[in-house]
Amino acid sequence: MSKYSTVLSSSKEIIEKYDLCNFCLGRLFSKQLRLSSNKLLGKKLKNGHSSNNPCHICKNLFDNLDYFSKLMLDSSLDYGFDTFSIGTIVKPSIIDRDDALKSEFKLRGIDGIKSDIAKELGKLFSKKTKKIINYIDPDVIFTVNLKEHSCNLYSKPLVISGRYTKSKRGYSQKQKSCDNCSGKGCRTCNFHGITEFDSIEGIISKLIFKKFGGTTTKFTWIGGEDKSSLVLGSGRPFVVKLQNPVKRKKRLFDFLSDSISVSNMKIIDDYPKTPLKFSSLISIKIATDSKFESKHLKKLKTLKNIPIIISEKSGRSYEKKIFDLSYRKNSDHLIVLKIKAEGGLPIKRFVTGTNVEPNVSVTIGTNCIAKEFDFLKIFVNDNN
Ligand SMILES: [Zn+2]
Ligand SMILES: [Zn+2]
Repeated sequence: MSKYSTVLSSSKEIIEKYDLCNFCLGRLFSKQLRLSSNKLLGKKLKNGHSSNNPCHICKNLFDNLDYFSKLMLDSSLDYGFDTFSIGTIVKPSIIDRDDALKSEFKLRGIDGIKSDIAKELGKLFSKKTKKIINYIDPDVIFTVNLKEHSCNLYSKPLVISGRYTKSKRGYSQKQKSCDNCSGKGCRTCNFHGITEFDSIEGIISKLIFKKFGGTTTKFTWIGGEDKSSLVLGSGRPFVVKLQNPVKRKKRLFDFLSDSISVSNMKIIDDYPKTPLKFSSLISIKIATDSKFESKHLKKLKTLKNIPIIISEKSGRSYEKKIFDLSYRKNSDHLIVLKIKAEGGLPIKRFVTGTNVEPNVSVTIGTNCIAKEFDFLKIFVNDNN
């Protein structure tokens, strides 16, 4: 017997006992016949056999797909996207009947009804909207609930990189979270997780929300600075992930104010998998407890290119290096130290000597504090 006649006799056995729609009947055999349209195969297998009863498995759910593709359309009206995928939720009883029938007739390796509904819905939606089905990396994912007649849309986060500079003191790098939700996002904060926009994080977030919509932003900073620090040169790089973006294809422009600039913004493929290596050129204004002798200052040169060990309260310790160093004595109590250091060196502790060895205070023999430190330049992937 040919494959098709085996299928034909087996399908006959099934439809004599159960009423099935074309989609459900076709689905049981399309794989072994390597056919793509369940509907056409179902129709062919029925060979004129018809019934007024609803489909035993799906209760004619497939007749109603237009309605659900309309729900998809409604839920995605505001969104800009090219590709999509679909997940479905159906009544468990449908899946139970599907499984029971497959096992009764010993049918194996058959697509489940849920994925078949998703497939048919996808075809419909794609035809209506010209959007492309993509199950690997879609811009948006619909979850169509056929049980409760609802549709949910998940929009893939957008990842944006850029740089900022700060030419006036007084801006924190990070924004305080919304008091009401601690940053998760709630009605009070418009689901942004922040309610104020007066830090670097806030200013960049605001720019991004305005362009792309979306809910919360999550930043990866390439190093950090104090509220009182300046960030000069071409600025500090950052990467930010925007959850639930509404638009995803806007052109990004530089932002300039008299104190903050945000530039080089671009959409990138993904969040960096490993922390970026960077180094910084930093100018540190150091105040000393007592007058110091100039000859002790020379010892600062010994801090170059040796491991600076930083110990944390947790017991963990790590080391950083200073690649270059110069200094200037401004007065008997004030030194300006300029270093090019590996990213992540805690500047204030390096000066006072709090669990950092060696450090500035011990090296010049008097207690020192960093009154101010500014970033003159930040180098990414360049530790020379
Ligand atoms: Zn059916
Ligand atoms: Zn909130």
